[in-house]
Amino acid sequence: MVSLKHFIALQLAEEPVAPPAVQSPTPALPAGARVISREQHRISRRQISDAALQVLNGLHQAGYQAYLVGGSVRDLLLGREPKDFDVCTNARPEEVRKLFRRNARLIGRRFILAHVQFGREIIEVATFRGSGKDEQARSASGRILADNVYGSLEEDAQRRDFTANALYYNIADRSIIDFWGAWEDIEAQRLRMIGEAEERFHEDPVRMLRAARFAAKLGFQLDPAIEAAIPRCRELLREVPPARLYEEVGKLFLAGFAQQSLATLQRHGLFSALFPQLDDALGREDQGEARELVRLSLDNTDARVAAGKSVHPAFLFAALLWPVLLLEQERLMSEDKPELVAMQQAASLVLEENRGQIAIPRRFTLTIREIWDLQARFHRRGGRRPYALLAHERFRAAFDFLVLRRNAGANLALLADWWQQFQSADNDGRKQLIEAAHQEDRGAELSLGPLPASEAKRGKRRRRRRGPRQKSESAVTAEAN
Ligand code: ATP
Ligand code: MG
Repeated sequence: MVSLKHFIALQLAEEPVAPPAVQSPTPALPAGARVISREQHRISRRQISDAALQVLNGLHQAGYQAYLVGGSVRDLLLGREPKDFDVCTNARPEEVRKLFRRNARLIGRRFILAHVQFGREIIEVATFRGSGKDEQARSASGRILADNVYGSLEEDAQRRDFTANALYYNIADRSIIDFWGAWEDIEAQRLRMIGEAEERFHEDPVRMLRAARFAAKLGFQLDPAIEAAIPRCRELLREVPPARLYEEVGKLFLAGFAQQSLATLQRHGLFSALFPQLDDALGREDQGEARELVRLSLDNTDARVAAGKSVHPAFLFAALLWPVLLLEQERLMSEDKPELVAMQQAASLVLEENRGQIAIPRRFTLTIREIWDLQARFHRRGGRRPYALLAHERFRAAFDFLVLRRNAGANLALLADWWQQFQSADNDGRKQLIEAAHQEDRGAELSLGPLPASEAKRGKRRRRRRGPRQKSESAVTAEAN
């Protein structure tokens, strides 16, 4: 806790901001750039958040250039609600910090940005970045490793990725500056690269995923130059650090347009850069159930986002990696590993492999593992086990996952119904259900009906090994839990 006295002292210690001598004028624009005046566009200040307006006005009144830029300008022109508001300015980060004092803090090591907070909203304020190619550190393939050069507005516009992302809303006169004909591109719903597409993908291969993301999210067409460059550049995604890919995966699959993202990524051969084994599996004829599971889980995620509900990344990843897990388990069982041991080993392998691909954070992989592990425990309904499972922290997620598998065609209808009833039954009801399950299990062949192809094989194995497997299964699960 900072005492009030200390707090005031801290404030006084801040260097006062010098009042601006002159207001920073709108810079002279290069040929080709144009200004869309306030009367010619639909963005009104009422659509801009209070926090963003405070930052823009604060910078402007202090004599700096201040623009709203990127996704927010694009989305407002499209009549969509922006996800967030990014600001850019010619003020240096340290100057931004002094201007907004305790509302501001600097972040980032390579390229320093200011985060300015008003209320609960944080506005990212970036100083114009230079294109200064000589000063950029690059990898052998041309990937930019470090670019921490400041620049002019024009240079800043050059290093943005797509034309639609490089419109600048000028708080000084509420006009929009368009360097690249973005206005027409937005009208035509076209995603066009600034500069030469192949070169820009070499600089940063993640731009390919961004292209797919904006096409999916905005319903834009990719410009033919982008479409042509992707097949020549997609291998470059292997160079990208897994943690950065993970960030993109989140934006592609957890933001409400996952289904379109998958379709766009597949169309351009980019999905394999994120989920290589799943991409293989989805292309196999015998994997209809896997395709359905993925389709349902993405639908489900999109519906939750649309309804304003939270989505748990672990649940989605558990679903996306499940088909890969089953194939891996199958392979291990063909080497004569018992079913449950194969499942455990497959889970470790799949998650380990993933670390080299999109590096799902550890806090999520633990949950994924739990959701998977609990699937086997749903089958064991004797004695106190159902009560223990019901009390498990991950019961809800695991049960939802069981239902998802059933909906995708796995032979789990009876089991899912049983658990549904067990959850809502009273004490006596639960006892009866356990007794009924016991009878059912003793009747060996559950009334399974015709099995879908992949589960049929698994079902046969399960039944064949019923006696001894039951034992090994509980032993392994006890170990795992
Ligand atoms: P969203 O609505 O998803 O936030 P956005 O366009 O704001 O979309 P951000 O990832 O928030 O996208 O980035 C903000 C802006 O920064 C972009 O609009 C673009 O101008 C620029 N930008 C971001 N990433 C890159 C990149 N890899 N290469 C070039 N410019 C980029
Ligand atoms: Mg943004």
